[in-house]
Amino acid sequence: MSASSKKSSRALRPATKLVHSGRDPASTYGFVNPPVYRGSTVLFPTVEKLWKRDQEYTYGRSSTPTVKALEEAIAEIEGGAATAVTTSGYQAISIAIFAFVKSGDHILVSDSVYYPTRRFCDHLLAKLGVETTYYDPLIGADIETLVRPNTRLIFTESPGSQSFEVQDIPAIAGVAAKHKLWLLLDNTWASPLYFKPFDHGVDVSIQAATKYIVGHADAMLGAITSNTRAAERIAQTKELLGACPGSEETFLGMRGLRTLATRLDHHQRSGLEMARWLEARPEVARVLHPALPSHPQHDIWARDFLGASGLFSILLQPTPNEALAAMLDGLQLFGMGFSWGGYESLIIPFDPTTYRTATSWQAEGPALRLHIGLEDVEDLKADLQAGFERMAAAAKS
Ligand SMILES: *Cc1c(COP(=O)(O)O)cnc(C)c1O
Repeated sequence: MSASSKKSSRALRPATKLVHSGRDPASTYGFVNPPVYRGSTVLFPTVEKLWKRDQEYTYGRSSTPTVKALEEAIAEIEGGAATAVTTSGYQAISIAIFAFVKSGDHILVSDSVYYPTRRFCDHLLAKLGVETTYYDPLIGADIETLVRPNTRLIFTESPGSQSFEVQDIPAIAGVAAKHKLWLLLDNTWASPLYFKPFDHGVDVSIQAATKYIVGHADAMLGAITSNTRAAERIAQTKELLGACPGSEETFLGMRGLRTLATRLDHHQRSGLEMARWLEARPEVARVLHPALPSHPQHDIWARDFLGASGLFSILLQPTPNEALAAMLDGLQLFGMGFSWGGYESLIIPFDPTTYRTATSWQAEGPALRLHIGLEDVEDLKADLQAGFERMAAAAKS
C-alpha cells in the first residue's frame, strides 16, 4: 500500500510523504482514499490456510488494511522501522513500557512526564514489582549516576508536559547505548514532523495521535514507532494486550495525517506570535516556549528540533484565584479542557507542585497551558486581552 514502493526513485520530502503514504489508488478502483475496513472475522479459503494462519489478515483484533495503512504512513514519516497504532496515546505508553520490563526491573522516568504516565508507573508497574526512579529532565549525561544493574529503560518526554523543559536526548541516548538500556520518547509535542527520534538514538517513539495527528478533537488514537531492534517486542506486546483501535478512529488518524504539515506550520507561527505577545504583557511573569530565545534550553531545542508546535505555558504574576477565574470563565474563543492538538484554541491552569518528586517547581503566580489553534491570532489576542482586563478588575474589587 505504501507509496514508497512505487515512487522510491527519489526521496520524498515530509509534506509530500504525508499526502502520499499509506494509499494506492490503483488498487482501490482509483478512489483517492483507501476504504475503511470494518470487521472481526476474516475468512480463510481452506483449512490448510487456517491451520497455518497463512494469509496477511487473520482476525480484526490483530490488524486490518485500514490499520496497516496508517501504521505504514506514520512509520515512514517519523522515520522508524515499524509503527503499531493503539486505542489512545496512554495505551501506547503502557504497551511500550510493558514491552521491555519484568518483575524486579528498574526504570528511569522524567520528572516532567505526562501525568498519567507517572500514575501508570506508580500504580500498575509498582504493583508488578517494577521500580521507577524519576529524574530531573535537565540531567543530560548525568543520568548515568541513576543507572543500576537492573535498570531496563529510560522514558523521556521532550519538551516536558506543562513545564516544557527540553531534554538533551542525544546525551541521554549515549548513556542508554553504553548501558544497553532501551530509550523511549513521548514525542507528541513535536509530532512525527518536528523531532526525528531515530536520528537522535531513540529506540521507541510514542505519539498521542489524539493530538496533532487526528488534529480535530474527534477521536482517540496512539502510535508506537520503533527501530528494527525494538519493533518485534512492541508488535508482540500489542498483540498480547489486545490493543485494537477502531476502524473509524484509524481512518480519522489517516485523514488528519494528510494535512499535518499545513496545520503544524500554522500552529507554529501562531503559537510563536502569541508567545511573543504574551511575553510583553505585564500580567505575564514568564513564557515557557522552547522556540523563544528566553527559554533556558532554547539552544538544545534549536540544535535538535525542526520546528515548534502550538502548545506552551505561561506563568502569571501572583493573582488571587477569583481574579484568575474571572479571566478564564469569560473567555470566548479559548476553551477549557484536556487534550490539545485540534484546530481550536485551549487553555488550562496547572500546578506541578502537586506531583513532582525529583525536582521542585518554583512559580509565584498561577500557571496556564495554552494550545494555539487555527483561529486568526488577532482574535485570540483580543480574547486574552479582555481576560486580563477582567482579571485586573476582579483583583481590585
Ligand atoms: C495527551 C497525551 C498523552 C495521552 O494521549 P491520549 O490519547 O489522551 O491517551 C500522552 N502524552 C502526552 C504528552 C500527551 O499530551
